[in-house]
Amino acid sequence: MSGARTSRPQSSGVPPGDQTGDRARRPLAAGETPALQFRNPELARALAHQLETLMKEIGREVSVMHVCGSHEQAIAKFGLRSLFPKKLNVIMGPGCPVCVTDVPEVDEGVLLAEQPNVEIATYGDMLKVPGTVRSLADAQAAGAKIHIVYGPSQAVEIARKSDKEIVFFATGFETTAVATAAILIAGPPDNFSILSAHKYIPPVMEIVAEMPDTKIEGFLAAGHAAAITGYGVFEEFVERHAQPVVVAGFEPLDILAGLVELVKLVRDGERKVVNTFPRCVSREGNLAAQEQLWKVFRPCGGRWRGIAHVPNGNLRLRDEFAKWDARKRFTIDLRSLWDFAPPQLANQCICGDIMAGIRNPVDCRLFNKECLPETPVGACMVSNEGTCKIWHLYGGIPDLGVGQAPSPVEVAS
Ligand code: SF4
Repeated sequence: MSGARTSRPQSSGVPPGDQTGDRARRPLAAGETPALQFRNPELARALAHQLETLMKEIGREVSVMHVCGSHEQAIAKFGLRSLFPKKLNVIMGPGCPVCVTDVPEVDEGVLLAEQPNVEIATYGDMLKVPGTVRSLADAQAAGAKIHIVYGPSQAVEIARKSDKEIVFFATGFETTAVATAAILIAGPPDNFSILSAHKYIPPVMEIVAEMPDTKIEGFLAAGHAAAITGYGVFEEFVERHAQPVVVAGFEPLDILAGLVELVKLVRDGERKVVNTFPRCVSREGNLAAQEQLWKVFRPCGGRWRGIAHVPNGNLRLRDEFAKWDARKRFTIDLRSLWDFAPPQLANQCICGDIMAGIRNPVDCRLFNKECLPETPVGACMVSNEGTCKIWHLYGGIPDLGVGQAPSPVEVAS
């Protein structure tokens, strides 16, 4: 089953993208900048009112999950939780690619960085992610050469100018995996290779939906990933799990409109996919990008940090691209780390439960104490897309105060 429609606030009858308030309706004065679209407070209040009405009609707690760090960022940054009805729990799931990069994958990067003649290029967020013993930042402090890059093309440029082996430690979901794929199809230099820790989102939603006693009643899917895969990719999931999925963009009104649709589907018991981000997402998605993605990568099972083994959740290079596969080009012997127990504090990290939607950062006794962005204990405090880092940056739950929000555990009980 599927559907594609745009939420329209009932009060105005005007879709969010077409109306930005009085400022948008009159000519701009000299030096005046255009009003930001999708952030109109009047429309936000109208959508919040719709949410409130829907939740009153439902008359009980409802828990939904979004699977994207960018959604959590926008929710926290714009204080949207202060607009959500008290009985609506919007929980962040495993939507931070840095956070779900597993410990052995970080270990591989660290051991590669420590090899002579090898330099690592990766995203800045990856530097402080803890491995079993050391992070890439630790390796860098000990003399390893780590290049911070914004994407794989920059890593290729470094390789072209270098006589070293440049390994691009590739993390991220299907959105960034496409860029990695394009680089390999274009034919990078011989001294370039990829250590792929890319992940594929749809399979992990299956894991969350199948968790025993899950209270999640619907998913808000990330618009940027769906722009690649198309919203049709969620149709089988909806059939299998009888859970609605709404694809939403990242502006405040996108998120509020997406939640209105999702809660409506929950109220009506409708199980289908709704696309509230039609300005970027179609049912079939970006076919050219998909072709590149699946030409280079094959899905395979693997662990997502703190969550579970996710069948088909990892993306690894196909044999045709083995020449550029760092795992095949270098010997990476993780046995040297087997004797090390995780640091004591790391045992108290509940990142896995947070990403599974079972607990909140405020449930962690280390949150904002021993665990801070400068001294992260777990991966969720490292990346700007990690729930703990986001809640640290924006003060936990805006307008409610840290500790006052119901944890999903309390809500579920
Ligand atoms: Fe882990 Fe730190 Fe988050 Fe606690 S606050 S769950 S230790 S990342």
